Amino acid sequence: MDVPENHPRAQSLRIRERIIDGMHKNIVAEAGLIAHGRGEAFDYLIGEETPNFAEEQQQAAVALILRAQKPVFSVNGNVASLCPNEIVEISELLNIPLEVNLFYRREERAKIVADKLVEAGAEEVLGVDPEYHKQISELTHSRRVVDKRGIYSADVVFVPLEDGDRTMALRKLGKQVITVDLNPLSRTSIWSSITIVNNIVRSIPEMIEIGHKLKGLSLDQLSEILNSYDNDKSLRESLEYISNRLKTLSKTSLKNLQKK
Ligand code: ATP
Repeated sequence: MDVPENHPRAQSLRIRERIIDGMHKNIVAEAGLIAHGRGEAFDYLIGEETPNFAEEQQQAAVALILRAQKPVFSVNGNVASLCPNEIVEISELLNIPLEVNLFYRREERAKIVADKLVEAGAEEVLGVDPEYHKQISELTHSRRVVDKRGIYSADVVFVPLEDGDRTMALRKLGKQVITVDLNPLSRTSIWSSITIVNNIVRSIPEMIEIGHKLKGLSLDQLSEILNSYDNDKSLRESLEYISNRLKTLSKTSLKNLQKK
């Protein structure tokens, strides 16, 4: 569907089209549409722009990836459909390999997602070659499979738009987890080491900019950024931001908001 340029919600609709297109190409699972809708609802609540607290979360996330010994970027169908080029760019910039890891795993779908990343310029995508498959016993059946060169042996896993069970399993295995999740109350948000409460389509390009700035820092300087970051506090700030925003909006005419 062509989204008219002057449509008041053109940007949001164009993003939605990427998910629908991804579903037709079997990159996105049906449940991925629902997950996207939930994300859209929370994006409304934060005003569809990056709040200050998310900038801090993104900075801490980049610092943690740069400081990691073996980071990995776990990619699902929604993430691959929403920002494939940016994922490849950040993977190269921060030296974080890409691994396809799906909630509704089927080998052929994992391969289609990997092909999407290769089409966007990725040289190597983990998670598809059965020779390297390993099982994480903390997870049930099809969701157990990971790549022994990637998630299995990683110390830091960047796993945007994830579900709570897997996040908890990764934490229990002693890994640090970074997520992007517009819902600050999801189990993933609460269980992650660093939660970025922002839309991934804004988050990854902004993390690329931060990456260029932080790349030259020493390990001590990166640790300094991380030592001053507190995820629980940051999540509480996101809730405060949303509730203050709603309080302010409730005192003004919502017609003004629509004109924006
Ligand atoms: P949990 O199991 O962690 O409690 P959940 O059951 O909501 O969460 P899913 O629906 O699998 O888990 O996860 C999708 C999450 O991703 C949702 O919390 C949704 O808000 C978020 N989300 C969806 N689209 C985006 C997006 N574009 N950017 C950031 N977050 C998003």
